[in-house]
Amino acid sequence: MSQVVTRFPPSPTGYLHVGGARTALFNWLYARRLKGKFILRIEDTDTERSTQASVDAIFEALEWLGLDWDEGPYYQTRRFAIYREHVQKLLESGHAYRCTCTPGQVEQMRQAAMASGGKPKYDGTCRYKNLPAGEGAVVRFKAPLAGTTVLEDVVKGNIVFNNEELDDFVISRSDGSPTYNFAVVVDDITMGVNTIIRGDDHVMNTPKQIQLYKAFGVPLPLFGHVPMVLGKDRARLSKRHGATSVTAYRDMGYLPEALLNYLVRLGWSHGDQEFFTRQELIELFNLENIGRAAGVFDVEKLMALNADHIKAAAPARLVAPLTGFLREKGIDISGDPRVEKVIASLSARSKTLREMAEQALFYFAEEITYDAEAARKFLTPEALAPLSALAAEVEALADYSEQAVEGVFHGLVAQSGIKLGKIAQPVRVALSGRTASPGIYEIMAIIGRERVLTRLKTAIAFIENSAG
Ligand code: GLU
Repeated sequence: MSQVVTRFPPSPTGYLHVGGARTALFNWLYARRLKGKFILRIEDTDTERSTQASVDAIFEALEWLGLDWDEGPYYQTRRFAIYREHVQKLLESGHAYRCTCTPGQVEQMRQAAMASGGKPKYDGTCRYKNLPAGEGAVVRFKAPLAGTTVLEDVVKGNIVFNNEELDDFVISRSDGSPTYNFAVVVDDITMGVNTIIRGDDHVMNTPKQIQLYKAFGVPLPLFGHVPMVLGKDRARLSKRHGATSVTAYRDMGYLPEALLNYLVRLGWSHGDQEFFTRQELIELFNLENIGRAAGVFDVEKLMALNADHIKAAAPARLVAPLTGFLREKGIDISGDPRVEKVIASLSARSKTLREMAEQALFYFAEEITYDAEAARKFLTPEALAPLSALAAEVEALADYSEQAVEGVFHGLVAQSGIKLGKIAQPVRVALSGRTASPGIYEIMAIIGRERVLTRLKTAIAFIENSAG
């Protein structure tokens, strides 16, 4: 095959859902792997259901995922002249004909076919009439009447369709607009698409499309129909299973590389490897390893993979998305030199960036609030002496650093005989408001001496007030 050309042709009737994103991903990866071309095409001929908001949402999601396209976006609504030209070609080559049967008549034919035990189909009334162009006529494809149409599918193997079951379907409506299968085929032919990977909800369209390719006398593309993504109950994934839009996952704090990794594994495998970087996927993705079984979307597994990607990410990579989540909480960390250190301290403890933002708050907040249970347990009169001693030592330190802080703690333990944990827990609550946080020396170094002293003093005052 010459250069591989794949495409993603969403219908803009809603946001980009995870199933669509997986289809886009497979086509994108295959093109990237083989240094081919990935085309974006907006299938907006259904003008009643297509919206600009959906188009924008699809772009936004693809951009966030980093699925960049080499050509397009094409819009089908801007290509009507090309479709008309191709209708003309089929009329001239005898592969199509005009039909003036009314919808009512066609309905009667369908009923009649069913009554005699057949499939509902057009009975070919106008097939040999050679009708001229005229008001109200549709154009029908002259489908083969006998034999079979074979879909050689790289995922599903061969699927054989009986031509008798297919009818002379409409390719151009009476207003001159193309029908769905016709527009898709004309687009794929004229755009040079030679590899079509899509959901298996399109299998039933494929024999019609194959027949059109044959009528145009052009080679068939490679077809691969991927099983649908299912929910945990094994029904097709839908809103009732929870969030299905790509950008909802962004807003919940997922990394695009984690979502891509999860989606690719929902239909493709490479041994039993679960974690893949984007680069690894580009190097490894192939069509042979697309599975025949439907993938079940499991948010918990996605979250576990997200945690792995957060852990693996360089802190600098997470600064921008974390900044957004903290801004939502009223905290501006832009330009703060401590941010990467904060991220490094939290990246092994956060399953999502939203959770990381939550955990990062205490580093940046002017004032913290104590978790009630943590305060009750650890900010007690017993803690007054260690907290005061620590504050005095920290204040007196010549050089304030993580090591120096650690030295202070060891000194306090040696002097007072109090166990390290007994000192560390009240300090942790005083500094972070919680009983769980990154290492105490690490957080003290990041928060900085001034703020550490303020928080220790605030905790001391809190204990004195509560006791009083
Ligand atoms: N526009 C179709 C859809 O969104 C895709 C058609 C195709 O892949 O051939 O389902």
